[in-house]
Amino acid sequence: MKIFVINAGSSSLKYQLIDMNTEKVMAKGLCERIGIEGSKLTHKPAGKDEYVVESPMPTHTAGIKLVLDALCDEKHGVISSLSDITAVGHRVVHGGEMFSKSTLITEEVKKALEVCSEFAPLHNPANLIGINAIEEAMGKDIPQVGVFDTAFHQTMPAKAFMYGIPYKYYENDKIRRYGFHGTSHRFVSAEAAKLLGKPIEELNIITVHLGNGSSVAAVKGGKCIDTSMGFTPLAGMLMGTRCGCVDPAIIPILMDKYNLSTKEINNIMNKESGVYGISGVSSDFRDLATAADEGNARAQLALDMFMYQTKSYIASYAAAMGGVDAIVFTAGVGENSPDVREGAIEGMEFMGIKMDKEKNKVRGTVDITAPESKTKVLVIPTNEELMIAKDTKDLVK
Ligand code: AMP
Repeated sequence: MKIFVINAGSSSLKYQLIDMNTEKVMAKGLCERIGIEGSKLTHKPAGKDEYVVESPMPTHTAGIKLVLDALCDEKHGVISSLSDITAVGHRVVHGGEMFSKSTLITEEVKKALEVCSEFAPLHNPANLIGINAIEEAMGKDIPQVGVFDTAFHQTMPAKAFMYGIPYKYYENDKIRRYGFHGTSHRFVSAEAAKLLGKPIEELNIITVHLGNGSSVAAVKGGKCIDTSMGFTPLAGMLMGTRCGCVDPAIIPILMDKYNLSTKEINNIMNKESGVYGISGVSSDFRDLATAADEGNARAQLALDMFMYQTKSYIASYAAAMGGVDAIVFTAGVGENSPDVREGAIEGMEFMGIKMDKEKNKVRGTVDITAPESKTKVLVIPTNEELMIAKDTKDLVK
C-alpha cells in the first residue's frame, strides 16, 4: 500500500510518498512560492538524483499536478500510474475540540475544518486547499485522511486546558489550550514505549520536541495530560522566533507605548522574539552555539533561557504525573544538540534523572541514561509523515 502524505502551507506544499509495506519513503519533495512569482518544485526520488522543475504554480492544484506528474515520470518517477496510490494523508494544524483522532475526509469534515480555520487562520485554509486540490487532480474517489496537530492533546483534563479568564470565553469562543505537535508527541511516546519494552499504558513519559517551534508534553499511560503550547503555537517555552509565554500585561503596555497595531505586535511576538530576539544573532541553534562559543553573551543567554525553560517544563510535568519513567528528546534541536539536552537535564539528579554524557554525543535513536538514573533519557527522531501515513492506512483499510 502506497500512501501520499501532504503538508500544505499557505504558499508551500511538502510531500512524501511512503510504501507502507516497508515504511520506506519512495519520494519526497517541496513546492515553493505557490501563487507567487518564481515557483519551484524540488522532487527527490529515493536512490535517484534530485529533480527541480521551475514552472508557474498559480494554485496549490497546479503544484499538486506537477508533483503527481513527477511521481509518475519515466525518468524521475517512482510509480507507473496514480492508481498505485491507495490514499492521501494530510497534516491538518487545528482540529479544535471537534477532532480527537485522525479522520476520513468527508464533506462534513471539510465544513468542520472551515469552522476550525478561525483558530488557525494561516494554516487550516491551506490544509483545506490541499485536500480540494487532491480531489481536483485525482478525483473524488481517492480516500483522504486528516491528521491533526491538536488531536493527541484532546485528552487533557479541564484543569490543564482552561485559562484563568472569564468562563464565557471558553463557552462562546472556545478559548482554551489546544496544544500542537501532537503527531510528533504521539509518535515518539509510542516509540519510547517500544524501546523500553513496556506497554505505554504503564508509562509516564515526557516528550520534549525542540525545533524551530518547541513544545513539551506530559504523556500518562499513552494519553496527553498537559502540554506547553496553548490556544496557538505561540505559547509555552521561547522558540526560534516565537516568544512563548510572557506576562500578558506586557502586550497592551507595548502596544500603547509604541503605538503598535495588533498585526505589528503579533509579528513581533511570532517573528522577532525567541532566541532570535534575545540573541540578535539567529534563530538557528547552530549559529547560536557558534556565537556563544565566540563569547557572545546574548547568544549564551538565549541558550540558557531555552534550556532553563525546557527544564522547568520537565520538572513541572514530572510533578503533574507523580513521577516520570522516560524523557524523550526529539526534533531538530532535540535530536541534534547534545549541549541543549545536557543543559535541560543538568541538576535533576535529585529527581532521579541523570544522563550519560558520553552516550549523549551519539546520534540517532539512542538511550542516553546514566546507569544510576531512575528515569530513562532517550533521543528518538520524530517522523510525523510516517505517523500520518500509518493513520491513513489504518483508516482506509
Ligand atoms: P525543526 O523545526 O525540528 O526542523 O528543527 C530546526 C532547528 O533544528 C534549526 O533551527 C536548527 O537550529 C536546529 N538544528 C539542526 N541541526 C542542528 C545541530 N546539529 N545542532 C543544533 N541545532 C540543530
